[in-house]
Amino acid sequence: MHELGIVLSIADKVLEIAKENDLTEIKAITMQIGEISSVIPDYLQKCFPAAVERSPLFEGTELKIEILPARYLCHVCGESFSLEEFKEAEGCPYCKEKQLLEMLTGRECFIKNIEAY
Ligand SMILES: [Zn+2]
Repeated sequence: MHELGIVLSIADKVLEIAKENDLTEIKAITMQIGEISSVIPDYLQKCFPAAVERSPLFEGTELKIEILPARYLCHVCGESFSLEEFKEAEGCPYCKEKQLLEMLTGRECFIKNIEAY
């Protein structure tokens, strides 16, 4: 379960930002996670108490997770499409290409914003 490592590295990053900005209370952390990243949002939530143990700043902090949809680009016809369209067509929905496809988004895992005082 690498989610614990992710949560702790996020906690460190947020604490760093909190220190730089003299923040005393962190209301919420919003994370963006790609639809097909290897990170499981539920596990992130479950691991979050480990971050709370690191600093009293995280007491009462809400962890929000946004899922970013995956998108693909076809290098044959130049069209882009979603994971659903890809699954349905089993390749590029426009020209049926299966090999020359590039994932544009979908594997992200980062802090989008921090609500704090
Ligand atoms: Zn195509």
